[in-house]
Amino acid sequence: MSKTALVTGASRGIGRGITIALAEAGHDVVVNYARNREAAEEVQAEVTKRGQKAHLVQADIASTDDRQRLVDEAMNAFGRIDLLVNNAGVAPTQRADILEATEESFDRLISTNLKGPYFLTQLVAARMISQGNHDESKPKIVVVSSISAYAASVDRGDYCIAKAGLTMLTQLWATRLAEHGINVYELRPGIIATDMTGGVKAKYDKLIFEQDLTPIKRWGEPEDVGKAVVAIAQDLLPFSTGQVIDIDGGFHLRRL
Ligand code: NAD
Repeated sequence: MSKTALVTGASRGIGRGITIALAEAGHDVVVNYARNREAAEEVQAEVTKRGQKAHLVQADIASTDDRQRLVDEAMNAFGRIDLLVNNAGVAPTQRADILEATEESFDRLISTNLKGPYFLTQLVAARMISQGNHDESKPKIVVVSSISAYAASVDRGDYCIAKAGLTMLTQLWATRLAEHGINVYELRPGIIATDMTGGVKAKYDKLIFEQDLTPIKRWGEPEDVGKAVVAIAQDLLPFSTGQVIDIDGGFHLRRL
């Protein structure tokens, strides 16, 4: 029996990598996307190629109505959700020193990167509890945060605050859902090659290759994150919950 995963922001980057890795591991996937239907259809084709089903749902994770519709459509399509991956996120449209940061930009970022995952988890957790979990199901929830959860960048305070908030979000849901057999994990990717980092490639090249901030000296790939999600989905960490998993080539070691 295939398990069903719901991945937010699945049409490109890390979400795409996670979706394909899950399909490879035998999951049907609800592919959430914000705008780019064509890219989502391309991901759907990759899932189908691997013998699994993909159901596309356009939904803005920052919108209450869209989150509800996303979960309803996922349940209509597959009847259950075994894995939720809160991946969708935005970078600040413009970096601004926290002395100049605007409330408008803060609200936009927090509602997508923090409020969205919090309330989507609430909706999905309720379904996971009520859907009746057969022995092999062991539902899981994954939260994609960042090294920005602990590395303070004063030119994108809103992003750092949102990602740090995801650490507590993970701990709260892990505590609340343990009695229902639902484990929750925070993944902290380091520098991963996606559209989000593409615009500032030279800066990150410098961090990795010149400043030696990543002991495993290479860019991370979306597949690196996908592999960690598959390990979680396959219940390879059954006695860990509320756990941070760094997928950063050792960035968190920040050696002197
Ligand atoms: P990306 O910009 O390539 O992809 C982000 C995806 O999220 C896109 O598909 C986008 O459409 C979707 N999205 C954005 N806002 C949305 C909304 N309101 N509703 C639904 N979908 C929405 O970026 P990525 O690098 O793949 O990032 C994925 C996640 O990983 C993000 O949460 C990001 O903060 C995190 N992250 C990325 C890196 C990195 O180096 N790339 C490092 C650490 C953490």
